[in-house]
Amino acid sequence: MVEKETDIISLLERALSAQPQEKLEEIGTVIKVGDDICKVYGLTKAVYGELIEFERGCQGIVLDLDEDYVSVVLLDTQVPVEEQEVARRTGTVFKVPAGEGLLGRIINAVGKPLDALGEIKYDVSLPIERLAPGIVQRTPVNQPLQTGIIVVDSLFPIGKGQRELIIGNRSTGKTSIALDTIINQKNKDVICIYIAIGHKQSGTAKFIYQLEKYDALDYTVVVSADAKDSALNQFLAPYSGCSIAEYFMNKGNDVLIIYDDLSKHAIAYRELSLLLRRPPGREAYPGDIFYIHSRLLERSCKLSDSLGGGSLTALPIAQTQGDDISAYIPTNLISITDGQIFLDTNLFNQGIRPAVNIGLSVSRVGGAAQTKAMKKIAGALKLELAQYNELQAFIQFGSELDKESQKTISRGKKAVELLKQDERKTYDYVDEIIMLFLLKANHLDNLNLDIVKEFAEQFASYVKETNSKLHNRIDESGDLTKDDEIELNELVSEFKIIFKK
Ligand code: ATP
Ligand code: MG
Repeated sequence: MVEKETDIISLLERALSAQPQEKLEEIGTVIKVGDDICKVYGLTKAVYGELIEFERGCQGIVLDLDEDYVSVVLLDTQVPVEEQEVARRTGTVFKVPAGEGLLGRIINAVGKPLDALGEIKYDVSLPIERLAPGIVQRTPVNQPLQTGIIVVDSLFPIGKGQRELIIGNRSTGKTSIALDTIINQKNKDVICIYIAIGHKQSGTAKFIYQLEKYDALDYTVVVSADAKDSALNQFLAPYSGCSIAEYFMNKGNDVLIIYDDLSKHAIAYRELSLLLRRPPGREAYPGDIFYIHSRLLERSCKLSDSLGGGSLTALPIAQTQGDDISAYIPTNLISITDGQIFLDTNLFNQGIRPAVNIGLSVSRVGGAAQTKAMKKIAGALKLELAQYNELQAFIQFGSELDKESQKTISRGKKAVELLKQDERKTYDYVDEIIMLFLLKANHLDNLNLDIVKEFAEQFASYVKETNSKLHNRIDESGDLTKDDEIELNELVSEFKIIFKK
């Protein structure tokens, strides 16, 4: 038998494997370029999502693997890639800068500044794709994230680490809810990441202006891939933003991330896939669109205490057409998230804003994080509103109603009025409890509908001013005891006298 030592191939193999492989340098050649996509021959070991560098400085990401070639989507098309140019593997996925220095900054999908504040100071570069934390690394959602929007905090509470979809037609106030939620995080130690996908530049500029106006930019990072950006940039933006958010979460911070919106993200991915000549599936979206969104949203979580206890709460936004939540992308997102806030065009046009449709909205895990006080106050509210909506159908037929039904209608109207809220006017959590207490304890029954809101708002500030002890007690204990209720009842009687004057 031939001695192994004399076998030239195995000798060569052994010599090669002894070489330190510090830098992975596999080289290929561009064989075709077009539509910001190039086919590269020779990168036989390239993996999906890997970053590829071209000889003349361009970069791209592998999004398709074929037997003979790989398809690379180009990131920066200022230096055009040419046929026969050399392409090199980097052995890593694309990375974005992350660190405290990003707070207050506006960046694009690849981490380059879009504001005029100069270079970004960052601590680390993080891969934009990462495995979501496993079940052992997580704890159940147990702290509320206060949006400052009374209808959300009372009926569809959001917990830290939860994913709650905001869904609705065009111009129904989706972005507005996101903006108010960010503004409400002021002085609450929550870092916010806002990702604008496929917006007009002017829309994003207006959003940033509002953040600045309400002093909310200091604790916010804006990642923007507007409609003019390439489909790849729009596709990457949420992953980049999520990695930046994870940096803060892993340091023990509570982070809120807003994806505005994932319908446009899906459209960008569909464009990429069609250019890559993948077979179109339902509504021409590629087959893996569900996976694209689920692996993004799965990265939101509440970490266990041993990992610092940070959290990443996600508010993805989705746009519907004709209020149809059973379309492909909306149903996907509804099934991935822990609930949805459905904004209804009809309600919006009736002047009920935020236009939350009570029947079609739900929060599946947030209830566990709601304070005792809010649970007590809001418990019956949802049922009351449901009964009211049901009865309303009858009034339209002009049918006579019995006393009991009339009472339900009258209370329902008051509740709807109480849950209206102007944009950019967020409420303190205790104020929300006090306002809802008025409804629950029947103090609004004899008021005219048009003064309900004013009465409730003024009463809440009255309690804060004249009885700050009670206000603080509710805030700290998170509970509303029988004694507190008695005290509040007395205060209402006092306040009614002043309010009349
Ligand atoms: P798009 O689909 O274009 O992104 P959107 O659903 O994000 O729209 P917004 O831009 O947030 O909607 O709001 C649409 C309009 O409704 C804006 O002019 C905004 O000022 C108004 N609006 C939203 N919420 C409220 C509110 N609570 N009170 C009064 N006006 C509101
Ligand atoms: Mg919007």
